[in-house]
Order: sequence, then structure tokens, then C-alpha cells
Amino acid sequence: MAATDLNPRQSASSFTCLSQTWENFEFMPNPKRRHSKSRRGKRRAHDFLQVVTPGICPQCLEPKLPHQACPKCGYYKGRQVVEGEEEI
Ligand SMILES: [Zn+2]
Repeated sequence: MAATDLNPRQSASSFTCLSQTWENFEFMPNPKRRHSKSRRGKRRAHDFLQVVTPGICPQCLEPKLPHQACPKCGYYKGRQVVEGEEEI
């Protein structure tokens, strides 16, 4: 058998000698080339944590996280939604 007969795209009958047939043989999708270090680095260029800029609570003027109720007074959007540390 020549080496070119082992190419599955050229010869389907060569797979029977490998105790595999076309019916039960499963191709695994694999990448053709590995990605370079440059490409990996460019993909990971945005993989970092960012500093959350704190906002100022308009109720008690304390710094608080954006889009969250103030932990000091419990106010959010001008009304009290949770119990804060100190009641007003
Ligand atoms: Zn507050």
C-alpha cells in the first residue's frame, strides 16, 4: 500500500484496513494551525479588571457604587429601598 492511500480524502477503502469504516468513523474538528503568541496576546489585550469609579450619593453625599443602593443611607433614585447604617 502506498502512503497516498492513507489519505481519507483520496481513498475511502483505506479506512477499512484501519478497522474503521465510514459509518462509525467520527472526524474530530480540529484547528488547522495553532495561533501565534502575537494573536493570543492581542486577544488577551482586553482581559483585565477595571477600577470601578464610585459615585456620590445625592442623599448623604457619601461615595457609593453606581447602580446600587447607598450602603450608608439605603437610598436609591430618591427613595429608601433598603435599610442603611443610619436612619434619617
Ligand atoms: Zn446615601
